[in-house]
Amino acid sequence: MALTGVQIFKLLPKTNCKKCGFPTCLAFAMKLAQGAAEISACPDVSEEAKSTLGEASAPPIRSFALGTGDKAVKMGGENVMFRHDKKFVNPTAIALNVKDDLSDADLSAKAEEVANSEIDRVGQKLRVDAISIECVSNDSAKYEAAVKLVADKAPDAALILNCSDASVIEGAVKAVAARKPLIYRVTDENADAMANIAKANSVPVVASADGLEALSALTEKIKGLGVEDIVLETGAKNAKEIIEHNTQARRSALKKSFKPLGYPIINNVIRDDSIFEASIAAVAIAKYASIIIVSSAEQWKNLALFTVRQNIYTDPQVPMQVEQKVYEINEPTADSPLMITTNFSLTYFIVSGEIENSKVPSMLAVMDCEGLSVLTAWAAGKFTATKITQFILENNIGDKITNKELILPGQVAILSGALEDKLEGWKITIGPREANAIPTFLKSRG
Ligand code: SF4
Repeated sequence: MALTGVQIFKLLPKTNCKKCGFPTCLAFAMKLAQGAAEISACPDVSEEAKSTLGEASAPPIRSFALGTGDKAVKMGGENVMFRHDKKFVNPTAIALNVKDDLSDADLSAKAEEVANSEIDRVGQKLRVDAISIECVSNDSAKYEAAVKLVADKAPDAALILNCSDASVIEGAVKAVAARKPLIYRVTDENADAMANIAKANSVPVVASADGLEALSALTEKIKGLGVEDIVLETGAKNAKEIIEHNTQARRSALKKSFKPLGYPIINNVIRDDSIFEASIAAVAIAKYASIIIVSSAEQWKNLALFTVRQNIYTDPQVPMQVEQKVYEINEPTADSPLMITTNFSLTYFIVSGEIENSKVPSMLAVMDCEGLSVLTAWAAGKFTATKITQFILENNIGDKITNKELILPGQVAILSGALEDKLEGWKITIGPREANAIPTFLKSRG
């Protein structure tokens, strides 16, 4: 049963020493009650209190990492059913499935495809995070060799060892244990042998059963065998079942504190048709999957899934923003044009991308408007003639250019008169309303 913040507070040392990173024991207790902190952060709590609190303060959905290093995939730790309630914490990992009967050249090519999948979108690095190596050969030596080859060619990718036969998987798990792979999959039939392998190598497992009832019994069994880090595979066979099972599992964990389903979820969405597969993958990302397994990683599909994932896992309470400063694009000189915009990330990346495309050396002054886009900032009174003037003068932006000319976004052309009055000696030019017209606009200036 979950404890309230006040109940937890009674068990803490009450010295307000701040070692846990919170100003008071009460503040720490409140965070523990929300599942947003770990009891281990308080070094002075008694062993007795720790054991009482350990279970009660554990996050409702167990949190752990797959893989190691900077690019380890964090899973679980989610606290809400809906993103607007607070935020979703750990983005869905995308895993490419490869089969161990491929030639070495083909396996290497697939692994390198994953290793090179990273793109930059609105300032965030997005990539295919993991590779699932599926055993179809049923040959332990062949499987181990395939796993080692993939691990070698994609050194940062998390590894999922996709094999249900404990005698076949064991060597491969040992070979890459340092990479903390995920054993996929443990069933009621192989649970004892697989749990032994997982324990011996300190790696997580996927518990796989047909339906949530059987799955709950299986996770309890696996936990009883000494394996704590478990991922759920519910047996969902289509989009409808993915939504139903994933939602029921999360609701049981969050709303009913039902521990047997308090784990991250994996959805294998492999389909014959690539577009159909991408659609099912998007459903799983939207509805609580911590890992999805796909059959191919074409660029169009990656981009679609990265975008869905990024949208869902962006904190809705924190506007995405970039630093306020003058950005130099295409190696400008003091004679280059100076444009201005706001610091909403999406605005910045679209505008700077179009300036880059134009190949015209330019400067882009980005003004802090609390992460709002141009029109919203203007409507909120944060991108006004007075504030723009203050920004230009306080940052001595005029010193960077020979001709005092400022190019305004066309959306706020209405500000030009007031700006000319306030920014003495400056010429205000009205730029395009839409960013995609920027290259033509800049080139036409000669
Ligand atoms: Fe209180 Fe422990 Fe945090 Fe110190 S570290 S403020 S004793 S909860």
